[in-house]
Amino acid sequence: MNPLLEVEGLTVQYGQAVKACVDVSFTLERGEILGVAGESGSGKSTLITALTRLQRPPARTTAGRVIHHPRGGEPVDLVPLSERELRRYRWTSLSIVLQSAMDALNPLMRVGDQFTDALRGMRKEAARERAKELLTMVGIPAERVRAYPHEMSGGMRQRASIALALACEPDLVVMDEPTTAVDVVMQRLILQQIVRLRQELGFAVIFVTHDLPLLLEVADRIAVMYGGRIVEIGDATGIYHDPLHPYTRGLRDSFPPLRAARERLHGIPGSPPDLRHPPPGCAFHPRCDRRLSLCEESRPELRAVDGRTVACHLTGAAR
Ligand code: SF4
Repeated sequence: MNPLLEVEGLTVQYGQAVKACVDVSFTLERGEILGVAGESGSGKSTLITALTRLQRPPARTTAGRVIHHPRGGEPVDLVPLSERELRRYRWTSLSIVLQSAMDALNPLMRVGDQFTDALRGMRKEAARERAKELLTMVGIPAERVRAYPHEMSGGMRQRASIALALACEPDLVVMDEPTTAVDVVMQRLILQQIVRLRQELGFAVIFVTHDLPLLLEVADRIAVMYGGRIVEIGDATGIYHDPLHPYTRGLRDSFPPLRAARERLHGIPGSPPDLRHPPPGCAFHPRCDRRLSLCEESRPELRAVDGRTVACHLTGAAR
């Protein structure tokens, strides 16, 4: 065990009434790729903005700890740190790739100049050379360092934002739907580059997406979120090929597989819960075709089953 991040009981609230992330706990090992999957509104983005301390009011962390183990340093809880204290860890310990590269790249600056912000302390020429090196690493010709973002394709911009996140060799890169805005060919290329770069540089990744089959291509483990909670977590192959939670199964069957033959898609009936008034018992019960009468009254706790952790009253019973 070589933990990089230990998340314990993280709870995030919007105002007084909406808990969008509830009692979330997991450990991320150094160099591991953890996928976080779920529909819109499942709590994925709330979780990563809380982890990276990028959340803005009315969101606030009301409970829990995010223990980061920096290289050669003492473990630190990121939750109570001030903005000034956090600067020590941003870029060098953890960085983020946003869903839309246009949100991350300044449209008024040449792409190469945007690296100098992250590479503060480096002389301008050295920073320019490092930017070229990083762009080449993600398959962008070094001469594009002088391009403005609008002179690049969507896929190139997204890869440039990944290169930017890697500028200070962080231990953890959080990626929020980094391939949603690109076509499937570019999606495949970006996924392959993430896996290759992780092998070369050894950083860990938290990869957030609504597309469960896509995670099979990159993730070592997958955490599935529903209604702000983790409902299943385990190794990627097991989660994909033998999901224990009915929601995980529904999520998997909602997307065409990237490698296998096309099959009829099933989807999940109904809508995600209104977090202002979550249903009693299991939050998934109004949509679950396997629900028991118990499910409407009692919320299942996470428990270890067959080498993974799942919150469903069916586990232990015949599936
Ligand atoms: Fe379905 Fe019940 Fe399991 Fe919830 S606890 S997923 S309602 S079977």
